[in-house]
Amino acid sequence: MSDERNVIIVGSGPAGLTAAIYAGRANLMPLIVAGSQPGGQLTLTSEVENYPGFAEAILGPELMDVMRKQAERFGTEFVDDDVVGVDLSSRPFAVKTAERTWRARAIIVATGASARLLGLESERRLLGRGLSTCATCDGFFFKGQELVVVGGGDSAMEEATFLTKFASKVTIVHRRDTLRASKIMQDRAHRNPKVAWALNRVVDEILGADRVTGVRLSDPDSGTVEDLPAGGVFVAIGHTPNTQLFSGQLEMDPSGYLVTESGSTRTNVPGVFAAGDVADHVYRQAVTAAGTGCMAAIDAERFLEAHAH
Ligand code: NAP
Repeated sequence: MSDERNVIIVGSGPAGLTAAIYAGRANLMPLIVAGSQPGGQLTLTSEVENYPGFAEAILGPELMDVMRKQAERFGTEFVDDDVVGVDLSSRPFAVKTAERTWRARAIIVATGASARLLGLESERRLLGRGLSTCATCDGFFFKGQELVVVGGGDSAMEEATFLTKFASKVTIVHRRDTLRASKIMQDRAHRNPKVAWALNRVVDEILGADRVTGVRLSDPDSGTVEDLPAGGVFVAIGHTPNTQLFSGQLEMDPSGYLVTESGSTRTNVPGVFAAGDVADHVYRQAVTAAGTGCMAAIDAERFLEAHAH
């Protein structure tokens, strides 16, 4: 079989899968390189209650499974592998996995974003061992325990408030004494009797040999160090777009998000489109990702029509 495809979609979250459904129904026979974490961030969540069309909550992984089946129904070809390189300087474009190189007349980038970590060695060791980046996924495992949430934005407030459903106490650790979170989210956390605060504190270390036992905090002004015991630590310090592959090839904003032309999914390279969180640091919802995935497929279809051999 030839290596050339009309459209290659990189990423298989709601943006990529919706692009596949639309491109499939437009007879473009898309190929989707689904990545090593197929389904994207929603596979790390539990219940999804705000995706329209489901009167009852649906589990994140289940929602992605249904979307994938829908994409398969319209002839999407899936490659469950990571893209390791792209070359957008020649046409058709090159999309490389470890196994082979594909050619694409158009590309839809839907690689999403990943939760940011603090960058500590102890963090790598303890991730999944009491250290998490997703309260909705893992909160349930920490019933009756004392927990720490790191961050001062809306995510940290939301995660801390959510975790009080399970935990006996949740301490929000933030590196400054002013929170970044919106007032309403701050107020909600402040009103919660189970929430405690460690402001103006930097996390120097996550403690524990093979399971989290607490955090080592320091005061950036006085340099004082103290250990805070905790059965679990949730890092909620924002997200990083997965755009390293496109560095030097596609235009990005200072935070690394892909830049698209206003009102479309067009990037600065004609024939390359971006959908979902990779180009959106504002809304970051499954439904907005799906919406821009649809837009990208329509934009790609029109591009291919205008550039038919
Ligand atoms: P964010 O607003 O960028 O906040 C990140 C927080 O983490 C900041 O307080 C930041 O500290 C801290 N931080 C970043 N890097 C750090 C590091 N290396 N060490 C320690 N602390 C660090 O991210 P977010 O909270 O994920 O929110 C992202 C967007 O989603 C926002 O627009 C937010 O409003 C939105 N959101 C909305 C809701 C909601 O309304 N329900 C829920 C979640 C998210 P500094 O403040 O010192 O920079």
